[in-house]
Amino acid sequence: MKSFRKELTIRTKSRREFINITPQVEAALRESKIQEGLVLVNAMHITASVFINDDESGLHRDFERFLEKLAPEKPYDQYDHNGYEDNADAHLKRTIMGRECVCAITNGRLDFGPWEQIFYGEFDGKRDKRVLIKIIGE
Ligand code: ZN
Repeated sequence: MKSFRKELTIRTKSRREFINITPQVEAALRESKIQEGLVLVNAMHITASVFINDDESGLHRDFERFLEKLAPEKPYDQYDHNGYEDNADAHLKRTIMGRECVCAITNGRLDFGPWEQIFYGEFDGKRDKRVLIKIIGE
C-alpha cells in the first residue's frame, strides 16, 4: 500500500469564507499516482472545517445565515470562551460543519456523487491555516 501526505496553506481575506479546494485535492491525487484507495482531507485547526457540498453561492449564503443563527459572532461577551479570544463562535461553527471528509478514489479519480465538491470553511481567518490531505491505496 502506498501513502501520500500533503499540506495546503490557506489565508482568507475575511473572518469567514468558504473555498472550493477540490482542484487542490485532485492535484494531490495526481501527484500521489494512487489509483484505488481513500483520501482524507481535514482542517488542522479547531476554528475551520472541511466538508462536502454543492458549489452554489446561494447555498453558501444560506450556510452563513444558518451558522450565524446557531452561533452568532457578536456580542463577544455572550461566550465563556471569549476571555482572551473572540473566536468562540468559530469553534462552534467548526463543530457544526465538521472537521474532515473522506472520499473514495476509483480509477485515479475522486469518486463523487452528483454535485459533490470539497470545501474549506474558515470561521476565524485572516491568518495562515493548514489543511491536511492524506491518501492511502495503490
Ligand atoms: Zn478560541
